[in-house]
Amino acid sequence: MGKIIGITGGIASGKSTVTNFLRQKGFQVVDADALVHQLQKPGGRLYQVLVQHFGQDIVSENGELNRPLLASLIFSNTEEREWSKQIQGEIIREELATLRDQLAQTESIFFMDIPLLFEQDYSAWFDETWLVYVEPDVQMERLMKRDQLSKDLAISRLSAQWPLEEKKGLASQVIDNNGNQDLLLTQVSILLEGGS
Ligand code: ADP
Repeated sequence: MGKIIGITGGIASGKSTVTNFLRQKGFQVVDADALVHQLQKPGGRLYQVLVQHFGQDIVSENGELNRPLLASLIFSNTEEREWSKQIQGEIIREELATLRDQLAQTESIFFMDIPLLFEQDYSAWFDETWLVYVEPDVQMERLMKRDQLSKDLAISRLSAQWPLEEKKGLASQVIDNNGNQDLLLTQVSILLEGGS
């Protein structure tokens, strides 16, 4: 049996910076956000189930999902929100499990980057969980800068996730990303050398 490590954190906490580095080192990394994006493309499993439920109205002229319309349908109605959360959650879990099982055949160690790892209860999948941690003010600043967001929008994105402080006690390793990128990647190298 190989070793599977879950990478998590919060929005703009530095997960991609860590996973880019891991890929450069030759490791396989499953990216849950990229998978969701793929599944929501025309023909993907999430696309299909959403169109079946809401009808063709949620498809834009270019064939892609009309995200603003979808968001307004889902967020204005508690029942639709719960339905969507549950069905999408189940499909994403199944697809992630398939990727995990495939990689387990060939890799002695690999990573899965799952932003909502703790919120969605994925801990049991992993031998180790690494949390990329930043202080709230640093997270806010990096998020606003990277996504060109106003403070209000940044606050609303952050409020959809558990505070990183809360995740600290759940992770097997906490990687501190309050410093510069060299300091971040040095910690990752040390974890990799530690037999992980
Ligand atoms: P995530 O994948 O968790 O959303 P990213 O890796 O994209 O986060 O990092 C968020 C932003 O902060 C990016 O613009 C990234 O370049 C920047 N960043 C990440 N780590 C640092 C750091 N240690 N110092 C300065 N900027 C950083």
